[in-house]
Amino acid sequence: MATIIDGKELAQKMQSEIATEVENLKEKGLQPGLVVLLVGEDSASQVYVRNKERAAEKIGIFSRVERLPETISEADLLTKIAAYNQDPLFHGILVQLPLPKHIDEEKVLLAIDPRKDVDGFHPMNLGKLLAGEAEMIPCTPYGIMKMFAAYDIDLEGKTAVVIGRSNIVGKPMSILLLEKNATVTITHSRTKDLPAVARTADILVVAIGRGEFVTEEFIKPGAVVIDVGMNRNDTGKLVGDVDFKAVEPLVDFITPVPGGVGPMTITMLMQQTVEAAKRSQG
Ligand code: NAP
Repeated sequence: MATIIDGKELAQKMQSEIATEVENLKEKGLQPGLVVLLVGEDSASQVYVRNKERAAEKIGIFSRVERLPETISEADLLTKIAAYNQDPLFHGILVQLPLPKHIDEEKVLLAIDPRKDVDGFHPMNLGKLLAGEAEMIPCTPYGIMKMFAAYDIDLEGKTAVVIGRSNIVGKPMSILLLEKNATVTITHSRTKDLPAVARTADILVVAIGRGEFVTEEFIKPGAVVIDVGMNRNDTGKLVGDVDFKAVEPLVDFITPVPGGVGPMTITMLMQQTVEAAKRSQG
């Protein structure tokens, strides 16, 4: 029987620790602040932003959501970001992705002060991560590293396979695993015989965005499986990238969807906001 990695429970525990820290900081006159810029009406983004807002409120982080019209110009959005870069009330700035097509995402991410880039997507922060001097780390892989630590999953010398090479999940995940001395293979849509490569994995992290794609044939018995995917199946049910029912009996550890990686991502966003606030004091 696999141990189910309970991201919801771990997130709650970490969030209550962060809340205590925020309480202490407030007593010293420092209230961490987070602003989320939401452009347009994308329904998934609205849900994500609402969840972030709720978590911030619960933890005691001062938060603001700026809801901006779909039609906002790139220049106006950049002006907003420039103002928040200067605003001492906000230690974290997050621009919810995706942005409308007429806005250059790259330009927007570059405009955020790297010290306030709590999502960890700014090229400066990604570069620091690559150099082993990370300050802000993309929240999803960061949360996954906390899961390994909480469940005493040793990564040293292990074979890790990451499926997916996005800048926000797959690539930074690979670097973090490497830093913990795993031997890492990054795979993607052009990888030949992906199931065979995946079967070499002691640690398998899946972030591709295809519902229940990873089945028994991808699994080495006794592996640790982390499912980042969030997909709706034909019946509208939220499912991961891993076929949980088929895979769970074979592995030692597995994350569920929902209640696995998702809650940890939000938690790390809160933690990085607090860290940014503390660093802002010099
Ligand atoms: P993304 O930017 O779309 O990247 C997907 C990656 O998967 C790409 O590298 C792609 O390869 C690879 N891929 C797609 N189909 C594949 C296949 N058939 N075989 C092998 N590789 C394949 O996605 P993302 O932003 O990393 O997100 C991945 C999933 O995680 C999504 O379901 C997303 O909703 C979810 N997510 C969840 C959280 C959370 O907090 N739980 C956070 C972020 C993302 P190529 O590069 O070759 O195209």
